[in-house]
Amino acid sequence: MVGLAADWLTSTANTNMFTYEIAPVFVLLEYVTLRKMREMVGWPGGCGDGIFSPGGAISNMYAMLIARFKMFPEVKEKGMAAIPRLVAFTSEHSHFSVKKGAAALGIGTDSVILIRCDERGLQHSDLNTCLCALLQGFVPFLVSATAGTTVYGAFDPLIAIADICKKYKIWMHVDGAWGGGLLMSRKHKWKLNGVERANSVTWNPHKMMGVPLQCSALLVREEGLMQSCNQMHASYLFQQDKHYDLSYDTGDKALQCGRHVDVFKLWLMWRAKGTTGFEAQIDKCLELAEYLYNKIKNREGYEMVFDGKPQHTNVCFWYIPPSLRSMEDNEERMSRLMKVAPVIKARMMEYGTTMVSYQPLGDKVNFFRMVISNPAATHQDIDFLIDEIERLGQDL
Ligand SMILES: *Cc1c(COP(=O)(O)O)cnc(C)c1O
Repeated sequence: MVGLAADWLTSTANTNMFTYEIAPVFVLLEYVTLRKMREMVGWPGGCGDGIFSPGGAISNMYAMLIARFKMFPEVKEKGMAAIPRLVAFTSEHSHFSVKKGAAALGIGTDSVILIRCDERGLQHSDLNTCLCALLQGFVPFLVSATAGTTVYGAFDPLIAIADICKKYKIWMHVDGAWGGGLLMSRKHKWKLNGVERANSVTWNPHKMMGVPLQCSALLVREEGLMQSCNQMHASYLFQQDKHYDLSYDTGDKALQCGRHVDVFKLWLMWRAKGTTGFEAQIDKCLELAEYLYNKIKNREGYEMVFDGKPQHTNVCFWYIPPSLRSMEDNEERMSRLMKVAPVIKARMMEYGTTMVSYQPLGDKVNFFRMVISNPAATHQDIDFLIDEIERLGQDL
């Protein structure tokens, strides 16, 4: 409700975030909100920089752009031909936007090295080995760690990754698009321990925190870097002889010219419910995920995709119809199991009762991935989901 009201007001004002003079209140709200978010990341006094961008994918690309600029500022004028071959590292479960950013920035997807990963995140010893073995002439410039992977909801070991980044002097980015919200929870924020050592962090309040789309922030620890990386000083917007402090003209930090006001929804919701309100919301989602996990982990007809409690609200499982339960674990069973989740989901959509996503991952055939980000959901909703899966899948 509050988010919706804020969205309404934002659209009514229909202003633009490029200069202070055109959106003074929103520029100041963005300033204080980003500072508050940086405080929660753990940077002293909320120091640093940042921007609201059109989503986590773009925030991640900003991080890559700034990391490259930090190491080779000449790239801004001279382009990629003037600098050595760069490589970035991320986990094999990281979000596809890391590769997409590398493609867009002319770094190339082949230059993104994927490190082995499981339900507890990236294997940091593999990262270390890879860096040791890196050929001469290849310059590692970025590690993009993930706090809350998209499928498993796993948190990379940020402290170990920070140590490695320090040793090799590499920019550490944390993609917390999905998991960043846990910073609001005293009970769960330990999962991001080490995030305070990152050089940049992506955090999407439009995911776990329920802020209406779009609302994604990129936070950067070093102040001024975004500005020098992206500024073009267009003289019809960013005149240098204005009568106010030009640091409030935040628009030149962005890749965009016109920029939507994304901050107001978050700011107003934060004012309305406080950090403890967001915390309750997030704890509730994690509690619901745990309820689902406990309900199915030993239930007949279910197999968990990985052992142990999920770190986030992603509960990944197979439903095994009765006809497959006594089958040996062989090729035929795999190829039949692969078809189960898509059929159940199709039936869910045809009946119009519920929906849950599925996907394969690595050598694992199609499994359900129930992700809970709606704190208004109840135990009954979870019970219904299970009943529905069994009702629609028992004859398969
Ligand atoms: C969703 C997600 C993104 C992309 O965020 P958008 O706002 O959809 O662009 C990036 N990284 C992770 C880990 C995500 O879960």
